[in-house]
Amino acid sequence: MKIQHADAPTSCRDCGACCYLVVEAPEPNGIPERLTTRQQGRTWMRREGGGRCAALEPTTKRCIIYARRPPDCRNFDRGSVHCLVVRRAFFDGLRGKKLIKAYVKGIKKATALGSRDSIDGNHALLQK
Ligand code: SF4
Ligand code: SF4
Repeated sequence: MKIQHADAPTSCRDCGACCYLVVEAPEPNGIPERLTTRQQGRTWMRREGGGRCAALEPTTKRCIIYARRPPDCRNFDRGSVHCLVVRRAFFDGLRGKKLIKAYVKGIKKATALGSRDSIDGNHALLQK
């Protein structure tokens, strides 16, 4: 169990876990076409091996389009329950569909606990 990695992070450095989730890019805003894909009439960030966003530089774990990143990325708050849930799955080694599944399940559980944004709820979730 690698709970310590899921503790409230102070920085996104050495993480990048949320960049393994599915991200829509509704207004590409100058995002290079090679980094996106069109599916079912919508534009998404293209995903590479393990589900890594094509804009995530694999060694530095930096977003190469940070200033133009999609709204989903801008709204993904570090330290939120969303962040903690995906970090736990990521540092447990899950990738691709397994990571997404764990993330969705974790968020549903957090919602059931009524702990969407409270830090107490985050800790309660992590103890489960
Ligand atoms: S927001 Fe959270 S999951 Fe995303 S890179 Fe930062 S610490 Fe990692
Ligand atoms: S656009 Fe940038 S911040 Fe958003 S998922 Fe891709 S690498 Fe991460």
